[in-house]
Amino acid sequence: MPKRPTTLLDELGIAAGNVLDAATGVFTPTLRLGVTGLSRAGKTIFITSLVNNLIEGGRLPLFAPLAEGRLIAARLAEQPDSGVPRFAYEKHLAALRAPTPAWPESTRRISQLRLELRYQSARWHAGFTGPQTLNLDIVDYPGEWLLDLPLLGKTFAEWSAEEFAAATAPPRDRLARPWLAITQSLDALAEASGPDAEILARAFTEYLLACRADEHALSTLPPGRFLMPGDLEGSPALTFAPLPAPQHPVRSSTLYAMLERRFEAYKSLVVRPFFRDHFARLDRQIVLVDALAALNAGPRAMADLESALAEILRAFRPGGANLLTGIFARRIDRILFAATKADHLHHTAHDRLENILDKLVDAAARRAKFAGAETRSLALAAIRATTEGTVDEDGETLPCIIGVPQKGEALDGVNYDGTTQIAFYPGDLPDFPGPLFDAGKTTSLKFLRFSPPTRDPATPGLPHIRLDRGLEFLIGDRMR
Ligand code: GDP
Repeated sequence: MPKRPTTLLDELGIAAGNVLDAATGVFTPTLRLGVTGLSRAGKTIFITSLVNNLIEGGRLPLFAPLAEGRLIAARLAEQPDSGVPRFAYEKHLAALRAPTPAWPESTRRISQLRLELRYQSARWHAGFTGPQTLNLDIVDYPGEWLLDLPLLGKTFAEWSAEEFAAATAPPRDRLARPWLAITQSLDALAEASGPDAEILARAFTEYLLACRADEHALSTLPPGRFLMPGDLEGSPALTFAPLPAPQHPVRSSTLYAMLERRFEAYKSLVVRPFFRDHFARLDRQIVLVDALAALNAGPRAMADLESALAEILRAFRPGGANLLTGIFARRIDRILFAATKADHLHHTAHDRLENILDKLVDAAARRAKFAGAETRSLALAAIRATTEGTVDEDGETLPCIIGVPQKGEALDGVNYDGTTQIAFYPGDLPDFPGPLFDAGKTTSLKFLRFSPPTRDPATPGLPHIRLDRGLEFLIGDRMR
C-alpha cells in the first residue's frame, strides 16, 4: 500500500480548530496545557496535585500570582470539549486523602479538566481593569501516543522490517521468542482469518508488555495504543502485528493484506485524529520523565528511555516528520521537562537528577528550541511521600530519605508490608551522567516505591517538591 500523504483536509481541520479556539478565547483567555509522559511517569499525580494546590492555596512560594497575593480564586469549571472524558480529579484526590491513603489509578486514555483562575494582574494598568480570568485547560494524554507520529510516514512493510530488526538485540531477542515463533507458524499468504490476526496481535502485545516490565523498563514500544489502548481495546484497528514482507504482490484476501489494511486504518482512524483534534491545539506542554525507574533497571533502559524521549519530542519539531508537525509545533511555545518522583532522593541530589534529565532530553530539547519553544528541565515531586534525615553507615554519615515502602517492595531480602517506616540511602547519583548510559558499566542505585503521605490537616494542598517552579514556568507569565 502506498504512503498516504497528509491531506489538505487535515490541515484545514487544524486551521479551523485553531481559529475557533481563538474566537472563543476572545472573552476569556484560555491556555491549553498538555500533560504527557510514558506510562507511570506521574501524569495523574501531577495534575491532581497541581489542581489541588491551586484550589486550596497550597505552599507555592515560587508561583508569583499566589506568592504576591494576586490569585483570588481557582475553581473547577465546566468541561470545554464535551467529547473528551473529564479528568477524575475528585476520585483521585479521595484516594490520596483516604484514612489509609492510596495512589490513584493511572492515566489510561486522554482526559481533560478546566480550571478557572481569577487573579489580579500585576501590570500598572491593572487597577483600572479589575480582576482577570484565565481558563487553564489541562489535557492529560499517554506519551505512548506520541510515539505513533513516525508511523504516519511508514508503510506496513517498513514498520514490520523495523520491528523485526529491533527484536534482534538483547534483551528484546529473548523476550521476542514466543511472538516470533507464532509469526513463523502462520502463513501470511493464506486466506485471512480473524482468529489468526488476534493470536498474532496478542503475542506481539505480550512481547511489548514484557519489554516494558520493571526489570527491563524499555520505553520505545510503538504502536502506542497496544500498551495504552484507551477506549479502543479489542477493536480491529488494534488487531495487527508485523509480518515479513512477501516477495511478490499479494491478493487482498490474504492475512498479510488484512493486517496491512488494519495498519493503515490505525494510522487514519486513530493516530491522525489524535494529533489533529488534541495535540495540535496545545499551547504549553509538560513532559514527565520517570528517570528513576530506568536507573533502577540499568544502562540499557536509560539508553532506551533516551531514544523514546527523542521519538516523543519529534512531535514538537517543525516540518520534519510530516506536514502536521509543522502546523502544530508553532503553537506550543513552552515545554517543561520534569524528572518526577524527586522525593525518592535527598534534596542534595536533585541537581544531579536534573543533569541526568538534561542528558536524557538533550538532543530533543535542542530541536524543540529550534522550533521557537522555550524549554526547561526540572526535578520535582508532585507529591512528596518522604521526609529527610541521615544514616550512619560504616562510620560515614549519609543523607537519606524516610518513608513507608509500598506493600510488595523488597530490599536486601526484606519484603515490606506497606506499614513499616524506614530510613533509606538509595546510592549516589554521579556528577556526570555519562556512565549511567554505558551498557558496560553497572550501577548500585536502588529506588523503592513509597506509600503516599498521610494527610496533615494543618497544611493546605498536597505536599510537593518544586511544583511551584514548574507552575511558574508553565503559566506564571500568563497571569502577570
Ligand atoms: P501516569 O498517570 O501513568 O503517568 O502515572 P501516575 O501519576 O499514576 O504515577 C504512577 C505511580 O508513580 C504512582 O502510583 C505513584 O506510585 C508514583 N508517583 C507518581 N508521582 C509521584 C511523586 O511525586 N512521588 C512519589 N513518591 N511517587 C510518585
